[in-house]
Amino acid sequence: MKHIIENYQNIKSLIPQHVELVAVSKTKPAEFIKLIYDEGHRVFGENRVQELIEKYKILPKDIRWHMIGHLQSKKVKHIAPFISLIHAVDSIKLIQTINKEAIKNNRTIDCLLQLHIAKEESKYGFKKQNIDDVLSQIKNLQLKNVRICGVMGMATFTSDLNQVRSEFKNLKQIYDLLKRDHLPEISIISMGMSGDYSLAIEEGSNMIRVGSSIFGIRN
Ligand SMILES: *Cc1c(COP(=O)(O)O)cnc(C)c1O
Repeated sequence: MKHIIENYQNIKSLIPQHVELVAVSKTKPAEFIKLIYDEGHRVFGENRVQELIEKYKILPKDIRWHMIGHLQSKKVKHIAPFISLIHAVDSIKLIQTINKEAIKNNRTIDCLLQLHIAKEESKYGFKKQNIDDVLSQIKNLQLKNVRICGVMGMATFTSDLNQVRSEFKNLKQIYDLLKRDHLPEISIISMGMSGDYSLAIEEGSNMIRVGSSIFGIRN
């Protein structure tokens, strides 16, 4: 457990100032979170709604919680009152639900569009070839209580770093096109995890989601 603070400080020292570190605390206890909270860290990522809510309840209220995993529409209501950023918006239905729940809570919820950049079919996210269509649909809906802040993607789970790099390049290109053609206000590219965050930063990431390199491997 004492390595957590060292790991955290090490990663902080390795990444540029403009890159936001999301400390991915899924499956890890609240006391682990508290260790780097006490070092001044405030941004934590979880991928399960139930676990996120339990941690939200017991931990300090100035933590900015990010939902990084696949989110079912029916569960949005549980996190809508407090969530700081939803990374994995992967359907029109989901963004409509987020908007509806945001209205109920009288707030605007920040979101990222998840793009499918990996080879594996199993990964969630919009496809590059559909993105123009998706954006015009979203625009037509005039969702006033969601703010699309950028994009998120996960590379293929592979040791082939050239493959990973080209997928990150691809996400950066999609981001650039989205910003140019649809959403000039976006600013976030969420890509990179424990195994590939330096590569992701080289390819333009400004938000990395790091779990095991801080908190240790998960069971
Ligand atoms: C678990 C998870 C991470 C962190 O993975 P590590 O390899 O432990 O850093 C990042 N992003 C998402 C979407 C995750 O589910």
